[in-house]
Amino acid sequence: MALPHGIVHVEQLPVEGRRVFVRVDLNVPLTKDRKVSDDARIVAVLPTIRHLVERGARIVLGSHLGRPDGKVKPEYSLEPVAVRLAELLAADVVLADEPVGDGARKVVSDLRDGQIALLENLRFDPGEEANDDGFARQLASYADVYVNDAFGTAHRAHASTAGMVPHVAVRGAGYVMAKEIDVLSRLLGDVDRPYLAIVGGAKVSDKIEVLDALLARVDVIAIGGAMANTFLTAQGKQLGKSKVEADKLSIARNFLRKASEAGKTVMLPTDVVVATGLDADASEVVSIDGVPGDLMALDIGPASIEAYRGAAQRARTVFWNGPMGVFEKPRFAAGTVAVAHALAANKLALTVVGGGDSAAAVAQAGVADQVTHVSTGGGASLEFIQGLELPGIAALAVK
Ligand code: ADP
Ligand code: MG
Repeated sequence: MALPHGIVHVEQLPVEGRRVFVRVDLNVPLTKDRKVSDDARIVAVLPTIRHLVERGARIVLGSHLGRPDGKVKPEYSLEPVAVRLAELLAADVVLADEPVGDGARKVVSDLRDGQIALLENLRFDPGEEANDDGFARQLASYADVYVNDAFGTAHRAHASTAGMVPHVAVRGAGYVMAKEIDVLSRLLGDVDRPYLAIVGGAKVSDKIEVLDALLARVDVIAIGGAMANTFLTAQGKQLGKSKVEADKLSIARNFLRKASEAGKTVMLPTDVVVATGLDADASEVVSIDGVPGDLMALDIGPASIEAYRGAAQRARTVFWNGPMGVFEKPRFAAGTVAVAHALAANKLALTVVGGGDSAAAVAQAGVADQVTHVSTGGGASLEFIQGLELPGIAALAVK
């Protein structure tokens, strides 16, 4: 796999007998009694760790967990993560009881070839998020080689993602990071057309930069979710009690004008599923011209689903971010599930899903393994798709 900007894949790095610091994303959800409730992020980084074990590297893992805000808080200890990681690898994982310091240094210097240490939660130290140079140099002093496999934090310039990197002579991308860079960069290059973007979710304000950036590259944008309500209102439709960002109507109008000037197709729902609220036990489908004044639009309707499905079938490149409705509630999940299936059914297209809730929706629809790529980074994938420079990726580039 040839990565852009001269970024080196972990398989190409000299790691035998060397101390390799790997920034991983082990920020997993825990149960009340502090057990790992979803180990997907741990499983995701196993290929990189296994590769390094097989090559006889001395592995130093670093991650954050939650938001301890620069203080040592036992409830944010990586201890349960170390236990689960050791189970999955069927190998010992030594947890240092601090991110840096004499104890951490000792754990690292005791490592033999093929052994694994995990530093305690990097965010126990305020230097991590502040990207403090002193903290970054301490982390770097544990490493001969730096590997980043935490795409989800690549858009943050923290000590472990950016600050420490120039202080380590050799650097590269792990399997997770390399696949993200490979697939997402393809979306920024010469793609097969038509190129369709499906954008939904909660707010226009969250996504307007993403929409603007996509507009320059795609042929068709299909809009759904609460975001569509604001666009439809901007077009003069009455949306009843739906979630509408009244202060974003001119942004929406501008976007629609720019799209039409550029000859791009913008698809908006022609029908919606309406109800009294998220927990309503009744709902109905109405035309976009007939939304009752006392009801809210909570999903796209069947005619809109057909139109978006057709666009997904014709497309040869698809990027999807943002659910089409309140997919967390089965009554309002049909639009989102249909879009997920439409992407999965198109085997001729490059199909990429980005965004935390969108990734959850694709998993919920049971088709996560039938699209080309589901990004592990919510915010990071949206920044990448805008063509922005991510500090964690820029730091890996060979200068
Ligand atoms: P992502 O995390 O994939 O980027 P967002 O965070 O932008 O997606 O949006 C997801 C949220 O948008 C979900 O919680 C979903 O319930 C909500 N949502 C989608 N459609 C609607 C709607 N019509 N009304 C209210 N909320 C909606
Ligand atoms: Mg979200």
